[in-house]
Parts: sequence; structure tokens; C-alpha cells
Amino acid sequence: MPTVEARYWEKLEGGKVKCTLCPRNCVIPEGGRGFCLVRRNAGGKLVTTVYGEITSANYDPVEKKPLYHFYPGAVIFSIGTNGCNLDCKSCQNWEISRQDTPHLRQVLPPNALPELASRYGSIGVAYTYNDPIIWFEFVKDAAEKVKEAGLKNVLVTNGNISIEALRELLPLIDAFNVDLKGMDREYYLKFSSFPNPNVWQVCEEVKKAGKHLELTKLIVPGFDNFTPEYFERFGRWIAENLGKDTPIHYSRFFPAYKLLNTPPTPVEVIDLAYDVTREFLWYVYVGNVIEPERESTYCPQCGALLVKRAGYSVEVLFTPDGRCPECGRPVDFVF
Ligand code: SF4
Ligand SMILES: [Zn+2]
Repeated sequence: MPTVEARYWEKLEGGKVKCTLCPRNCVIPEGGRGFCLVRRNAGGKLVTTVYGEITSANYDPVEKKPLYHFYPGAVIFSIGTNGCNLDCKSCQNWEISRQDTPHLRQVLPPNALPELASRYGSIGVAYTYNDPIIWFEFVKDAAEKVKEAGLKNVLVTNGNISIEALRELLPLIDAFNVDLKGMDREYYLKFSSFPNPNVWQVCEEVKKAGKHLELTKLIVPGFDNFTPEYFERFGRWIAENLGKDTPIHYSRFFPAYKLLNTPPTPVEVIDLAYDVTREFLWYVYVGNVIEPERESTYCPQCGALLVKRAGYSVEVLFTPDGRCPECGRPVDFVF
């Protein structure tokens, strides 16, 4: 596809431009590109170089995003491209997120999405793999087409985006999985080379807009503390600011990218995070470990099993009208 003029930027002196799409606010000289690699200053104008171009496409279980409370057991057409506004030390997808590989991209115009997104029982489109924030122009156009077709849009993101741009996307997006790296700026600087995170405010906006939100937190040795107080901070902040019904997925780290010599997270630490956070939140899950009882959903009122999971196998046990089979409490699921 030809390059397309970007949104959210300002002209500066000397042919430079400032991108304001994410809080990194890159100042880009003529001919240069932003930190995310795919927003370029072409003759004093900011353009996106990945509009309608994808590096990856799959029909994934929605549980893989991970979203556990959004159409459990469904399939979703999942696409990604190059680029990211963060540079996380353990990125699983750094080959596409921290490299620009135009020779590996295929063309996918927005109007091709509704048809692809309704094959194989898919419920819609997940913008995932790299971070969709830096793909704003395409995601917005694509999400419009998908929504018009009566399908769902899902954003899997680090959640660091200008609030103005977020508000433009919010009416189009049905569910978010936000990868919450940490609870302070220092964590983002050290782990993701990102100086000015606003993810906490973004999560609050998503929730305020009434959109479905789940969080992921990767627990990384050397970056996260393995104490109850540390995980308490996550539980408390989420409960107070996003609500006790916000699911969080604690994920076990395995060596990747710049952390090849760091050992995997001890399973006991994932269990500690689960136990501590369950005191504050109704729905806590573990990922990258095999513990079906901690991957399943229980009724917060009576403790009955509502959804039984083991890996990507899903058994829905709540009633067809969305109630706990034991006590009748309405379940916190979108389905
Ligand atoms: S979206 Fe990309 S170019 Fe724009 S500020 Fe963020 S990292 Fe920089
Ligand atoms: Zn119940």
C-alpha cells in the first residue's frame, strides 16, 4: 500500500515533526522515523508506513489474547504488523515489533476484513501481536468496517496512547486486553525503555466508557519483587480504580529477546501473586503454567465453577441466560 498521512502530529521548525499519538511524543527530523519504526517524516509530513499491511494473521482462540470473560470459547481473526512504541526486554514478538520488515508484509485493505473476520466462526478482529496503537490510522478504518458488519473489535495493547486518540477508538472497540507492565514510571523506563507511561489513565478511560477490559501482568525475575506487598499494590489499585470485576492474568516469564539469561519465574511466585490478588479481585488467572484450577472462573458469591479451563479447552458452566448455576448471580461475562 502507498504511505498514508498519519494522524496526531504537529509541524516543528526546520522540517521536523512531533508525533503526539503516544506519550513518547517523538520529534522526527526530515527523512527520520519515530521510535516505533513505522511513522516517518516524509518531506515535513508524518506518514504511516504500515497502513493496510500485515506481518501476521491467524484464527486464534479468544482465550489466547488473553480474554477470559469475552465470548468464552470463541475464535477471533487476529492480525498484526511491524512496530511498537515500547521496547520491552522480554518481548516475545520482537522480530515484528522491534524490526521493520516491509518484505515480510502482505497487503490487507480495511474492506477485506469483514469477510475474513467472519470465517471459521470468528467473532471479529483482534489487533494484536505488535502494538496496535502505532497502527492507529488503519485500526480505526478497519474497526469501522468490522463494526458495520456487526462483528467485534478487540485491542491487545500496552495501553500507552494519547487520551484524545483513545477516545476516537473507544466507540469502535468492544474489548481490550491491556498489558500492564508495572505500577510506576521507573518500571516502564527500566523494562520497556518508555519514559512517560499513561496506561493507568487509559485503563480508567476504557472502564469509564463501559468497555470490556482485562489486564495481563508478566512477572519477571529481576524486575518484579516477589513479596505479598508488591502484588497487593496491583490488587488494591485495580479494585479501587477499575473495579473488583476486572480480570487480571499473571503470566510466567520465560527467557526471550534481551533476557535470554534470566531464569523462568518460579511457579510459587505466580501462585503468590494469584493468592494475594484474589483477596482484592474476583477474577485472577495464571498463564504459562499448567494449573487448571487457577485458569478457571468461580462465582464471587457462592464459589461455584462458572467456566472450566485447561489450556485453550473451555467448558462454560453458567446458564444460557448468564447466571451462576448454583446461586443465580448474573455472571460478569460478555457473551
Ligand atoms: S506513536 Fe511512534 S512515532 Fe508517535 S510518539 Fe509514539 S513511538 Fe513516537
Ligand atoms: Zn454463585
